[in-house]
Amino acid sequence: MNKVVFVDRDGTIIREPRGKQVDSLEKLEFTPGIITGLKLLVDSGFKLVMVSNQNARDTSRYRRQSLALIQKKITKLLSGEGIRFEKTFICSHPPGDQCKCRKPRVELMRKYLKSMKVDRDRSFLLGDRETDVGVASDLGLKSIRLTKIKSSSATYVTADALDACQFVLRSMRSASMERKTTETEIAAWVSLDGSGAYDIATGIGFFDHMLAQLVRHSHIDLMLRASGDLHVDEHHTVEDVGIVLGAAIRKALGDKRGIERFAAPLDEALAHVALDLSGRSYLSFNCGFRRERVGDLPTELVEDFFRAFTAGLKATLHISCRGRNDHHNIEAIFKAVARALKLAVALDCRARTLLPSTKGTL
Ligand SMILES: [Mg+2]
Repeated sequence: MNKVVFVDRDGTIIREPRGKQVDSLEKLEFTPGIITGLKLLVDSGFKLVMVSNQNARDTSRYRRQSLALIQKKITKLLSGEGIRFEKTFICSHPPGDQCKCRKPRVELMRKYLKSMKVDRDRSFLLGDRETDVGVASDLGLKSIRLTKIKSSSATYVTADALDACQFVLRSMRSASMERKTTETEIAAWVSLDGSGAYDIATGIGFFDHMLAQLVRHSHIDLMLRASGDLHVDEHHTVEDVGIVLGAAIRKALGDKRGIERFAAPLDEALAHVALDLSGRSYLSFNCGFRRERVGDLPTELVEDFFRAFTAGLKATLHISCRGRNDHHNIEAIFKAVARALKLAVALDCRARTLLPSTKGTL
């Protein structure tokens, strides 16, 4: 399935003089940030489709030639930057015409979506008007509106063209995961390119606190709800959260193209952690705790959590720590894993399309 970003032209790719068409080369000006943003999308495997209404039919021959020249110039300049459009839908009919190609009509784009096997869950429409948002909605796509106006039904609103394109990439690296057994019921959503925001409730206070450390220091956003058989003990809940969280991060990583993959061993408050998103599950856990519980969390479950986490994530994880205070020890472990995770899931800007493996798969 193909990932596609439909991109409006005037007001999005190029600046639009207030309510007017760009009808001479002197008026041609690219929107700041759009070239860098579109290049990021191309490098990340997105196909681009340009969509625009141009009203050229009912005008003079000279003006039609000018509009054609501008379109040619735009595609040539972008092509020189490695930005090529798979398809261009330019409607030249006047607004009153009953054509099928003028936005907000969507017949031609709908045909394209079908014939090109477009993955609608991973495709977007980027435009500057609310009618563009409506087109996206009709096609079942997410929409990004490029505007300073905040009131919009778009999926995302921003006045920054580069941020708009980066939103597409951020959205790609998120995932939801649900797991229901007779012992636990867990729902999680993660976004790898977040800010460390979280909303976590497992019913185990100290465990929630540790998971908060994990996401805050890895800059991964996490929404997590877990209800487990705590009347038996905490084990099932802690272990199953580990499985679901690991699996959700693995899902959000996609094919892992462009990631840093390795996190160097990290020393923080006596905890040492090394992580490899290798596709293989392995945990080395070399930590001894003196206390049976910290808060409402049995300390033996820390190892069980990370064993389940590595199983869900299919990663190799080495953890060792030593210290006097088990509260501090556990917190240091979660923080060190968080920092390792942050490094490992980060995109390597020098190798955005490369898989960090000679094997060809991770
Ligand atoms: Mg526009």
